Amino acid sequence: MIGSHILSRVDLRKPPRYTETIDYCRKLEKASPWIKVLTFGKSPEGRDLVLVVASKDKAFSPTSARKTDKAILIIQNGIHAGEIDGKDACLMLLRDIAITKTKASLLDNVILLTIPIYNVYGHERFGKFNRINQNGPKEMGWRVTGQNLNLNRDYMKADAPETQAWLKMFNEWLPDFFIDAHVTDGADYQHIVTYGIERYVNIAEPVRSWVNEKYVPMISELKTNSIPVAPYISLRDHLDPLKGLQSGVAPPRLSTPYVALHNRPALLIETHMMKDYQSRVEGTYQTIVATLELMNKEYLSLRKAVHQADEGTLKNIENPFPIRFQTLDVPNRTFHYLSFKQTNEPSDISGGTWIKYTKEPFETDIPHFDSVVVLKTIVPPVAYLIPPQWQEIINRLKLHGVKFERLKNQVELEVEMYRFSNAKWQQSPYEGRHPVTYEVEKFKDRRMFPAGTAVVRLNQRAARVAIHALEPEAPDAFVAWGFFDAVFEQKEYTEDYVMEPMAREMISKDSALKKEFESKLQSDTLFAKSPFARLNFFYQHSPYWDSNVNLYPIARLIKSVPLKFEAEE
Ligand SMILES: [Zn+2]
Repeated sequence: MIGSHILSRVDLRKPPRYTETIDYCRKLEKASPWIKVLTFGKSPEGRDLVLVVASKDKAFSPTSARKTDKAILIIQNGIHAGEIDGKDACLMLLRDIAITKTKASLLDNVILLTIPIYNVYGHERFGKFNRINQNGPKEMGWRVTGQNLNLNRDYMKADAPETQAWLKMFNEWLPDFFIDAHVTDGADYQHIVTYGIERYVNIAEPVRSWVNEKYVPMISELKTNSIPVAPYISLRDHLDPLKGLQSGVAPPRLSTPYVALHNRPALLIETHMMKDYQSRVEGTYQTIVATLELMNKEYLSLRKAVHQADEGTLKNIENPFPIRFQTLDVPNRTFHYLSFKQTNEPSDISGGTWIKYTKEPFETDIPHFDSVVVLKTIVPPVAYLIPPQWQEIINRLKLHGVKFERLKNQVELEVEMYRFSNAKWQQSPYEGRHPVTYEVEKFKDRRMFPAGTAVVRLNQRAARVAIHALEPEAPDAFVAWGFFDAVFEQKEYTEDYVMEPMAREMISKDSALKKEFESKLQSDTLFAKSPFARLNFFYQHSPYWDSNVNLYPIARLIKSVPLKFEAEE
């Protein structure tokens, strides 16, 4: 019988594999007119990426869903496939909605989209030894993809085929709410479910207010299996939990801050790894049900908030626009922490301190540091101009749902450009790349832009994503991820015997240059010791120097000017 054979208590210790999971979804689809199993792409190994749509109106496509007045929820499970509680919670929920109908009313005002398993490669890398800290199930999947990429760091750079498929799916459906289900590591405590929700200055109004006024009060009161749900437990000091808890804004390489850039509320569910699998799945289930209940009650206000935020972004992106955030070192509220007593002892193994948790409950109010302020803003341009040779950048923006037009003819424009200095690459790879840090200097210029240049205007819904991708100082800017590494390279070199006489001539004619050279010799020992650098200094000051070295090739159009565009792609 559907509803019992794979989701009984016994089976919860042994969650279904990929094929069983998809078979189960197909059985739900056969048994209920409300369920449709769709695919939104393939994993690089060729497995279907599955999306299950549950809708009482049979609104199984983005177009038909938009024709209803219902709110759309996407629940994503198994991005870290070893943390699979959400998949089983969702299978149970779909059963209770469509088969037993005990939860059928949750579809009254909501269309529910479930990704049962996002990282399907990771899910099938099944084993007993995949999550060292985690208390079950007996076997589980793995954190990363077949290309060893963590999908939950890939949202902005979008290197993984899975991410690229996800972005297309997301931008077609544009849900009104998003949930990403995980299991957390970290300290030991009594809470089963912890959560993060995008609710700071990184998410547009009025969605921010909706989250803070409607969602946060609900989840702050929520209990699963009689234990209060807690904000994500990020302790300021693991040795002394009394020092408090910290919350803030993560960069958009992660799922929920990424979804926030699209003006959508985004919830992170993190069950606690030390709790048994049954309690974690039930906790996830109850948190999802509570979210759906609120969405059903508030679907009109939610849709209105999302719509207004989109309209606001379409009209006018905020100026100045915040790109980096910081949590103030000041407690903002108290949090009632249900922890366990701990002792801290010196360890002769690690040489550090060993926290020994007891199972003796200990509860106390601790300070919660969650005053988030803006650390860095930019002035948004009218548009970014991307010369056509930067095809990969243009293609990634397309995946992100960023709209652009192409210049019909070559045109000269007044723009702002960035010049990089002091670029440094991270030596060890991070998510398959070597991120680069740099300083930037902005300057005004008049430049020729060829036909085919992509013009990314900021009066568009996805403007926040465009800024985060293209502003070099944004935390997940494409340039910081290494998409533009070639612009940091010098491509022509002088021969010493050519440069030597030229340098002498330059010094004799230009006393300021002479002074600059001499003071650099004094202040920079590496420079002083390098014959190459010393001669290259004169090359850099000669008319032969390539002005494109260290130049960010994407321009900022500051004033709106009439432009002619190619017909839309
Ligand atoms: Zn995770």
